[in-house]
Amino acid sequence: MSTTQFTSKLRGQYSAKGYSAASATSPLAPTVISRRDPADHDVQIEILFCGICHSDLHQVRNEWTVMPTVYPCIPGHEIVGRVTKVGSAVTKFKPGDLAAVGCLVDSDNSCPDCQTGLEQFCPNLTLTYNSPDPYLGGVTYGGYSDSIVVKDHFVLHVPSNLNLAGVAPLLCAGITTYSPIRHWGATNGKKVGVVGLGGLGHMAVKFAHALGAYVVVFTTSQNKKDDAVRLGADEIIVSHDAGQMNKHARSFDFILDTVSAEHDINAYIQLLRRDGNITLVGAPDKPHAVSAFGLLFQRRSISGSIIGGIAETQEMLDFCGKHNITADVEVIPIQKVNEAYDRMLKSDVKYRFSIDMASLKSDLSR
Ligand code: NAP
Ligand code: ZN
Repeated sequence: MSTTQFTSKLRGQYSAKGYSAASATSPLAPTVISRRDPADHDVQIEILFCGICHSDLHQVRNEWTVMPTVYPCIPGHEIVGRVTKVGSAVTKFKPGDLAAVGCLVDSDNSCPDCQTGLEQFCPNLTLTYNSPDPYLGGVTYGGYSDSIVVKDHFVLHVPSNLNLAGVAPLLCAGITTYSPIRHWGATNGKKVGVVGLGGLGHMAVKFAHALGAYVVVFTTSQNKKDDAVRLGADEIIVSHDAGQMNKHARSFDFILDTVSAEHDINAYIQLLRRDGNITLVGAPDKPHAVSAFGLLFQRRSISGSIIGGIAETQEMLDFCGKHNITADVEVIPIQKVNEAYDRMLKSDVKYRFSIDMASLKSDLSR
């Protein structure tokens, strides 16, 4: 069934199916929401797959002090689908095209960040979900839904050779790791560490390997060792083994920390060489305790990074098309989303859940 058939009685809006959480302790459950009809610059997309990011879980369970959740919350920012309708001013897309949407759906387009293609830092950005919705009021609703309407600038082209279920996670896990790896030049011949082999971590390994780095994975999960090699790692270190960690002291050019929970980052800072950098992309709520001495000896630095701009996201997708890179996914029907959250918390997913949105059709028959 095409999304345009869900026309609601409200002028300028139509009804879409989705899965929402009613509170921090509620499971995600079927719902119906309003989406705006596409305006001149909008693209309406039938969502085919949506990845499950750990940020979805943080947000649904209201785990971030800096970004309180507004309920009901429909998460999902790893979206791939097919264009069903475009506004009159849209030239980049036509109905039937593949299209993808990540964490951003709008920005002011005038600040210095937007002007340099770094929309992710715009002070007036609109996130795909849980952001004030400038069109409909309330907050934006994400990709655990059968359709979405997004301004054309924020819609990406999808290389035609890639498996779509595995493309969806590129829109967050992919760009979030690609961007800092490129920014810090963690490429040819550099020794690069990836902490945590989850959704983000496994993409970081694939990118750093494809870009020519020597890749070392730090994991708490013994059982991921063989996979890490298959994904492109040159070495694997079980992070609670101090002996293994010490062997690598002062040797890394760059370490990307993707861990979703509280952990000690000083152990990794010790592994950086002079002027080495550790970049945090993992987003546990509790602040890290950082030893000043770990940084000032060897002039090491610590930074953060968040997703990437639109142009860089397209560059990453094109890179994936050229190198045949997608996420390793376990495809699930949306009815299994709550179980998937619990499994993700146990690191029991190889390495990203991707929701087959066709499963939403069987819910809420009308
Ligand atoms: P994920 O798939 O759950 O992976 C997280 C990995 O961290 C796990 O697979 C596990 O790897 C490791 N880990 C989990 N608990 C740990 C603990 N207590 N101690 C040490 N290691 C632990 O999550 P994800 O989707 O990749 O997201 C990771 C984090 O990045 C989340 O906090 C998410 O919100 C954040 N994020 C940030 C951005 C950004 O733009 N900065 C974008 C997306 C997501 P091992 O089993 O290998 O140890
Ligand atoms: Zn994400």
